[in-house]
Amino acid sequence: MEHTFFAVLLSLSMAAFAFSCYRRLALVAIGKEEYRFDQPQARFKEMLVYAFGQKRVMSRPFGLNHGVIFWAFLVLAVANVEFLVSGILPGLSFALLPEPLHGTLAFVFEICSLVVLVAVAVAAVRRSINPPFPGARTFEAYFILSMIAILMLAYFGMNGALIASGARESTYLTPVSNLCASLLSWTLADAQLNLAARVFWWIHAVVLLGFMNYLPYSKHMHILTAIPNVFLRNMGKSNTQPREEFCEGNSFGAATVDQLTWKDLLDSFSCTECGRCQDSCPAATTGKTLNPREVIHAMKENLLQNGTVLEKLAGDAQAERAVSLIGEGKKGATPESALWSCTSCGACMEACPVFIEHLPKIVKMRRHLVQMEAKFPDELLNLFENMEQRSNPWGMAPSERSKWSSQLELRPFVAGETEYLLFVGCSGAFDARNKQVSVALTRVLDAAGVSYGVLGRDEKCCGESVRRLGNEYLFDLMARESVAQFREKGVTKVIAQCPHCYNTLKNDFRQFGLELEVLHHSELIAGLLASGELQLEGRMEELGNLVLHDSCYLGRHNDVYQPPRSVVQAVTGKAAGEMERSRDKAFCCGAGGGRMWLEEHEGTPINRARVAEALALKPDTICVSCPFCMTMFEDGVKEVPGTGVQVRDLAELVAQALPKTSK
Ligand code: SF4
Ligand code: SF4
Repeated sequence: MEHTFFAVLLSLSMAAFAFSCYRRLALVAIGKEEYRFDQPQARFKEMLVYAFGQKRVMSRPFGLNHGVIFWAFLVLAVANVEFLVSGILPGLSFALLPEPLHGTLAFVFEICSLVVLVAVAVAAVRRSINPPFPGARTFEAYFILSMIAILMLAYFGMNGALIASGARESTYLTPVSNLCASLLSWTLADAQLNLAARVFWWIHAVVLLGFMNYLPYSKHMHILTAIPNVFLRNMGKSNTQPREEFCEGNSFGAATVDQLTWKDLLDSFSCTECGRCQDSCPAATTGKTLNPREVIHAMKENLLQNGTVLEKLAGDAQAERAVSLIGEGKKGATPESALWSCTSCGACMEACPVFIEHLPKIVKMRRHLVQMEAKFPDELLNLFENMEQRSNPWGMAPSERSKWSSQLELRPFVAGETEYLLFVGCSGAFDARNKQVSVALTRVLDAAGVSYGVLGRDEKCCGESVRRLGNEYLFDLMARESVAQFREKGVTKVIAQCPHCYNTLKNDFRQFGLELEVLHHSELIAGLLASGELQLEGRMEELGNLVLHDSCYLGRHNDVYQPPRSVVQAVTGKAAGEMERSRDKAFCCGAGGGRMWLEEHEGTPINRARVAEALALKPDTICVSCPFCMTMFEDGVKEVPGTGVQVRDLAELVAQALPKTSK
């Protein structure tokens, strides 16, 4: 009778669980199409490393604790399947296996249960004393931890009662259950031990089925979605954005969840709420409204609130969707100010253990604001006009573009005669400080005998800031023009001194059918030094203590970490000083994502925070490899009087170290 009752309960629970999962997946399915099934073998491997291996989780304090719970849970899943099956068919259990195997399994389950119990206690204490983020001490978090703890305690209680009653043999392989058996036999009469075993069994069964059915409605939905989410990750990097089709009647960007892709929506269910993204975010950590974790959480809230209505509207392009993802003080919406705070540095995505892609979602919402509502910070109006009319952010006349090199005779790029196009970029051509970098770079190239030419007044802004700011229409126009020009002039190899130009020429232009071989000047110079084509004169000791800053668009977005370090080593004879946050954990200078052209109205300026981090190392020189970083660091250093710290581009250091005859 009891088994029949349990069979009915189990069937109902499984059906309810399947229905809940189906409802969640149906909500995910309202998202737009996106293809994430290429490279199955590589995806599988990544899933093993990052989901099952918990690689990113383990890289942080307390990651080990999560890893332990995860792995023990996988093992205990086997025990739980046996538990459920034997609940219906009592004869069908591991007891049927040969004794050595049965004993080993019992020992493994015993140890895993104990380990989970300890890890859950550690997690509860940690959350109480030092939560991963303010507000992480939620009822839900403690409720889940309690359910897991009860499952383990009930497991030991059940086995202990069975051993105490003589229904199960006591062996040295079940030490914790033996201890429970001793405790129970002290406190309960023999006749009560059988009842205790049934009570513990039922507690275990009810909590197990309850936990399973609670999962789809809690943040622990990630237990179900995180592994597939890692499998379906972006196998490249989010260093470019998808193109849009500019046809009449199309809507652009995303303001409702059904304008996101299904993968965006799966991301929202996969967030573990670990807070790593917000800890890494330069905007969040300097007091801006933006919090990448909350952006993802708001998407999930929005989907849960509005998904059913949106499901009914599916395919009806005319239907009114009054469920905006963007808004002030609304549950399920992200404030506009948060969206404009993002520097597109990618730190959030690099930190996320389940490969949630925050940045593309933020850019999609910016696209909606700019293209559908013409709503953007006032400062951007000038920028967009200047870009459109004169193809540079300052609105300078194109003829001014070639004036940065008044002391130099610059060769024009001629296909077949010049190997590389030196893409100077707007900062390198117009900004007084960065013009010096352009001059230094040409000296280095000349000293190494590199064959290069420039476009001069014909060069156009690559449009990087415009794209990250969400003005895809304008970027599309600019990119088409540049791509046509590059094709016409026969450009195939490019040297870029700006990581933003580098990224756009290398990754964004590819979407417009132009494959270029693009080298950042640090990569080219490192190669020239390594091959001996570029010789330096002695070591530049006067640079003193040198600290290196990684540009997000060079490092995190394109994995170029070593070349700047190799160049510094060659110039100074020693390794560059590293800030606490460097390489893939580097903190943004604050200028990416179009923030270069916007004032910071909230919190501490990001450049001030980054400069303070650099100054903590007592540098004489801060070395950058990006014109935006140069501006942000120079501004930041000026705010701290009396440091005497110089900010130098990598090319300037190399130019200074050239043999005197080369200068
Ligand atoms: S890309 Fe950078 S600034 Fe934007 S949300 Fe992520 S960490 Fe924050
Ligand atoms: S988005 Fe990723 S990093 Fe951020 S809280 Fe969620 S799981 Fe953690």
